[in-house]
Amino acid sequence: MHFLIMAQQEEVFKKLVSHCKEYGYVFPSSEIYDGLGAVYDYGQMGVELKNNIKKYWWDSMVLLNENVVGIDSAIFMHPTIWKASGHVDAFNDPLIDNKESKKRYRADVLIEDYLAKQDEKIDKEVQKAARRFGETFDEEMYRQTNPRVLEYQQKRDEVHARFAKALNDENLDELRQIIVDCEIACPISGTRNWTEVRQFNLMFSTEMGSTSDGAMKIYLRPETAQGIFVNFLNVQKTGRMKIPFGIAQIGKAFRNEIVARQFIFRMREFEQMEMQFFVAPGEELKWFEHWKAIRMRWHQTLGFGAHKYRFHDHDKLAHYANAATDIEFEMPFGFKEVEGIHSRTDFDLSQHEKFSGKKLQYFDPELNKSYVPFVVETSIGLDRMFLSVLAASYREETLEGGETRVLLNLPPALAPVKLAILPLVKKDGLPEKARAIMDELKFSFSCQYDEKDSIGKRYRRQDAIGTPFCATIDHQTLEDNTVTIRYRDTMEQERVSIDALQQTIAEKTDMKNLLKQISI
Ligand code: ATP
Repeated sequence: MHFLIMAQQEEVFKKLVSHCKEYGYVFPSSEIYDGLGAVYDYGQMGVELKNNIKKYWWDSMVLLNENVVGIDSAIFMHPTIWKASGHVDAFNDPLIDNKESKKRYRADVLIEDYLAKQDEKIDKEVQKAARRFGETFDEEMYRQTNPRVLEYQQKRDEVHARFAKALNDENLDELRQIIVDCEIACPISGTRNWTEVRQFNLMFSTEMGSTSDGAMKIYLRPETAQGIFVNFLNVQKTGRMKIPFGIAQIGKAFRNEIVARQFIFRMREFEQMEMQFFVAPGEELKWFEHWKAIRMRWHQTLGFGAHKYRFHDHDKLAHYANAATDIEFEMPFGFKEVEGIHSRTDFDLSQHEKFSGKKLQYFDPELNKSYVPFVVETSIGLDRMFLSVLAASYREETLEGGETRVLLNLPPALAPVKLAILPLVKKDGLPEKARAIMDELKFSFSCQYDEKDSIGKRYRRQDAIGTPFCATIDHQTLEDNTVTIRYRDTMEQERVSIDALQQTIAEKTDMKNLLKQISI
């Protein structure tokens, strides 16, 4: 039963990937040259969805919060920044190779997957019992008393404790030993013939300037946050910002990921949306809770269901953090991190003070003293968010009469095309009328004109790209200036006056609908 669900989910994921390609959402990069590992291009639909997600995030930060402002810093930065931030010395992943298949894995991910499997095993026992006992089933009691569940749980907890300790001690031998002790096999070769675990730095580097005048080794930024930290005083002074305040940024980041699988979940070039919130020392945990709640609400407002999200507190706190959690989303391949929320103390600004020799302090008029602010960060991957939105929206439906349709039930505010404008037939003046409507509406929201194929086929195409509304222009339109609006999710149809069309669609697709729910 369980394996069946997994196989089905894998199947759905495969279909989603090919759907993305077929309908212009995501293409493999450099495809005519057989692609480039873990690099992807966004197509004509993808770029619109991506821009809409960016806008939802940006507006929720910068528009809704008077004390959050944005910047756009360069990708290239002074190399010492990455010394100060710790990335040169410690931005590593523990990697391990299988000697048989020659495949490379992240040792920590192998163990995390193993732990997730143990959890699934326990859940399966519980589900089995729930079916057996019916309504009288007391899940909590069962989990606490059933010998088999307890045995699994104890073993899982032991491995988990060893894993957390090994990570914290950066004990690579112990990581390997856990893999050996848990009998974790390579999914490709099926063998347990593993190499040692080694550290691997994830930063890409390149050279700036010609060698004759001394080229400088520089890095492609692995996160956008450092661009915010080094501009902290510029923004604070020129914007006359008072603590607490935040700086938001959206931009590309680069990581030479060891294991680059799962489509746009783990890419080597990706985009981050980060906000660093500067607070007085001692206030950081209060703000950490504040942003945790706000960020979860931002996700849940999209309406995919609260059960699809959960918090996952970190096993290993970075040495500078005093609190950290992830927001995980239920992808077709399990719950996975989409966003991180971290209380980073004064580590970053203090490090940049040390390495640059410049003061990065704030004079607090209320306390009448200067200090290095503490930072609470919210950091979300745009591409992962994109994947979560698509995974949650993708549906295959069987209609009455046995016909099937594939649709993306995207939140209307995020949909690439808001309204499709469809003349019923390609004659009798209907195309001209449809064009005239489009010329009016195109200033308000994105419309797509389509006159090719039967109306049924055109509806299916719009369903597949996630267009929430179609307006069909027929002979009656020429008589009484009304059109049929067809709703994507219910497939219901309604006749409305052309005069009301602009306002009706604008209201239903406005980003304001989402933003108002978060600012309550
Ligand atoms: P992971 O553990 O999955 O490697 P991380 O904890 O290293 O992620 P952070 O450094 O906290 O990730 O980065 C913040 C966010 O950036 C992540 O929550 C994720 O959404 C996104 N992100 C990080 N690495 C990648 C990647 N290689 N491809 C796409 N998105 C990424």
